[in-house]
Amino acid sequence: MRYVGEFRDPVAAKALLARIHEQAGRLGRPLAVMEVCGGHTHTIHRHGLENLLPESVEFIHGPGCPVCVIPLGRVDDALWLARQPGVILATFGDLMRVPGSHGSLLDARAAGADVRFVYSPLDALALARAHPDREVVFVALGFETTAPSTAVTLDRARAEGVANFSVFSNHVTIEAPLRALVNGGETRVDAFIGPGHVAAIVGTRAFEFLPREFGLPVVVAGFEPLDVLQAVALLLDQFVSGRVARGEASVENQYARVVRPEGNRAALALIERVFTPRETFEWRGLGWIPRSGLAIADAFAPWDAERRFAVPGLQVPDPPACQCGSVLTGRIKPRQCRVFGTACTPVTPVGTCMVSPEGACAAAYTFGGLDRATSRAVARER
Ligand code: SF4
Repeated sequence: MRYVGEFRDPVAAKALLARIHEQAGRLGRPLAVMEVCGGHTHTIHRHGLENLLPESVEFIHGPGCPVCVIPLGRVDDALWLARQPGVILATFGDLMRVPGSHGSLLDARAAGADVRFVYSPLDALALARAHPDREVVFVALGFETTAPSTAVTLDRARAEGVANFSVFSNHVTIEAPLRALVNGGETRVDAFIGPGHVAAIVGTRAFEFLPREFGLPVVVAGFEPLDVLQAVALLLDQFVSGRVARGEASVENQYARVVRPEGNRAALALIERVFTPRETFEWRGLGWIPRSGLAIADAFAPWDAERRFAVPGLQVPDPPACQCGSVLTGRIKPRQCRVFGTACTPVTPVGTCMVSPEGACAAAYTFGGLDRATSRAVARER
């Protein structure tokens, strides 16, 4: 399978769907499948996949969109950095639209702050080289997928002695929030579609704790519609064959064209050298989770914006209207939020889930249609 058309082939999709319907019938009970990655959420909405599945199989959107899980306090910290004298604040376009307590980074730019969007941390380093009289701060975020590119940039800044460059790290790791979610027990999850991009770095082995400790099967999957459908079929196989009931649930790799069991060792070594786990880190919707964030290691302290600028470390509750926390933990569907599509749209986002294309609310809004759970909830209310 080398071309994208093959991953969207309707004949193959129909065959997979027939298999899924047959397996779901044999299982004879509801199955809640959490997709952890925002890329999967986007694919599910864009291609209307949930509506093709049997009624008994439900997708639950998990905390895998890196922009969505950023808490309000960290956004306010980035706004504080943008207002420091002489600072050029550089970050990705999505983050610039995330609302803080008093506007977004885009609003700060309109008010005179020097906020620029970049495609990569190396672009931010180039900005620092081009403006030696200014302080360039890169706001980094993302899971293990993007942490290596930030690490490479910090390595290069140190090697070149670029003294006017620093990073405000909001990098997070995947295992701790999944543990918190399962241990929290507020969301019923029977199985996981594992995040293909993160798994390309951490490997499929990083997810083995889910079947081993919680008896939950995982299929690491790619991002095309056939990838997601095949992942659902493989998960159903584990249930219908009795492997889950016998305590033999496992991690399977649907995305073998990209992901290896051991992951990318060079990238993992780089992360380990440049970052250090934080004691705890705040997640939108999940609260404070021990060892879930990555701070910059002491060896790179001069390039750590949190030490260089004494960033305040603000802790701010979400606005009362925002239900992103419930969406991110699968407790409600996007359309069940009281401000979805009214006060909160991609143009006027109230919460983070409406900002990034990977956010569940943005995907639901952009691609329209009612998901099945919402349709049922609406029908009940009538
Ligand atoms: Fe958050 Fe807006 Fe989604 Fe509500 S509709 S959960 S406020 S992003």
